[in-house]
Amino acid sequence: MARLFVISGPSGAGKGTLIRGVLEQRPDIAEVATSATTRPKRPGEEEGREYFFLSTDAFLAKVDEDDFVEWVEFAGNHYGTLKSEVDRLLSQGANVILELEVDGSLVIKEARPDACLIFIDTDLTELRRRLISRQTEGLDEIDRRLQIAEEQSKDKLRFDHVVHNDEVERAVAELLATLERELGR
Ligand code: 5GP
Repeated sequence: MARLFVISGPSGAGKGTLIRGVLEQRPDIAEVATSATTRPKRPGEEEGREYFFLSTDAFLAKVDEDDFVEWVEFAGNHYGTLKSEVDRLLSQGANVILELEVDGSLVIKEARPDACLIFIDTDLTELRRRLISRQTEGLDEIDRRLQIAEEQSKDKLRFDHVVHNDEVERAVAELLATLERELGR
């Protein structure tokens, strides 16, 4: 049976880096579902790869049509998991990874109690350093994301596993071991 994994944690905690690290070692372990968003495309991002980039009107039309498993407003933009994308991957027999912010993850747990929720944690000083060095957001936006991160950290106890991203290589190994344990291999 294909499994649904939700990987969450504060913006800048390194979710994307750890997921990429795991897939480099075990490309067969899961497929990452592409979300829809209304946030502007960053340099280097591609339509349908990082996200399906939608206008707010197009996004809200999909909300009305009940096309999302979950959707949230995060830091001024909309993000949502498309039912069609998750179903497409699961029906191919693939384990699916969703990379979501915290509120959306908890919604998934209600809709799909069999989903396995993993929280990627990091301390706030390190988070600030990473968000600044990544240079994808301005300082106001970084402060906003740090405030959200502080709030979100309280929810980590509701996750099945917490992986502390103190050092990337070690954290990748721990995330991979966690996935393998859940899959029983
Ligand atoms: P970013 O703007 O940095 O790409 O993403 C901001 C946050 O939104 C990240 O924490 C990311 O994991 C989360 N996110 C991306 N797609 C979705 C989604 O479909 N649903 C939810 N709830 N969060 C998402």
